[in-house]
Amino acid sequence: RNQPTAAKYEYESSAASSERFTEELARRCADDPALDVTFLYDTKVEALTMDSSSSSDGKPRVTTLLTNRGTVDVPEDAEILVAAGSWTPHVLSLMDMYAPVYPLKGYAMSIPASGCAGLRPEDLPTRIVSDRYMYTSRLGDEIRITSVGEFSGWSSAPAPRVEADFRDEAVRQFPQLAPFVRDAGVRCGHRPYVNDGILLLGRVRELRNVCVSCGPGSNGWKLAMGSGEIA
Ligand SMILES: Cc1cc2nc3c(=O)[nH]c(=O)nc-3n(C[C@H](O)[C@H](O)[C@H](O)COP(=O)(O)OP(=O)(O)OC[C@H]3O[C@@H](n4cnc5c(N)ncnc54)[C@H](O)[C@@H]3O)c2cc1C
Repeated sequence: RNQPTAAKYEYESSAASSERFTEELARRCADDPALDVTFLYDTKVEALTMDSSSSSDGKPRVTTLLTNRGTVDVPEDAEILVAAGSWTPHVLSLMDMYAPVYPLKGYAMSIPASGCAGLRPEDLPTRIVSDRYMYTSRLGDEIRITSVGEFSGWSSAPAPRVEADFRDEAVRQFPQLAPFVRDAGVRCGHRPYVNDGILLLGRVRELRNVCVSCGPGSNGWKLAMGSGEIA
């Protein structure tokens, strides 16, 4: 591999923690009674019931969600938004619908800069470092390294061989971080990859009260605010 020969300074782009963003968003939704949001955690939609008898246009309406924690009735005037990431095809299949989405599994590790004993601030990455395959960003004290696009089903457990390669590449790019890379925990997440790379967003025409917001893959978080507004 060649050493980097060029760099560009992206003065308008920035990085942020999607984990902190979503946790804070959930907290604000839960804390503000005016928003009227209820979260049902650890609740999986396993089946649903549909009814087309009461519909003037003959389109079926989802009337009940059957979950591992009981049933949820869907009010007559309520819309359902399926935003189940890479599991969207599984949920839509409960309605006999197909979605061309597959998880593109990514690997991530976080290293606290304050824990990098023996290194000076200038030894640590301070902005995004990217070679198109590995992205390293600095989120406050956190040095976050991400990489890999793995097609291997819906498990979100790291595959040992891929995890080892991921660590090796991180050490190759940041040899000074070697001991911390070796110790860091590795977590995987899914990029809900739509086959043509275009968001699945909008109403399901064949059904009366179902919308979808899914994908497109690597940019799902960046686009989430816009998707949410449209949904
Ligand atoms: C390593 C990595 C780096 C990334 N980097 C970026 C980036 O730099 N910029 C960017 O914009 N995006 C990035 N992404 C992509 C981004 O993280 C995803 O697009 C985004 O998290 C998808 O969000 P989502 O809410 O659609 O799906 P998810 O976050 O997967 O949420 C889906 C939810 O649906 C729930 N669910 C599934 N099935 C059911 C069911 N039957 N019943 C009830 N609930 C169900 C799941 O439990 C889950 O909570 C990255 C992803 C990875 C893995």
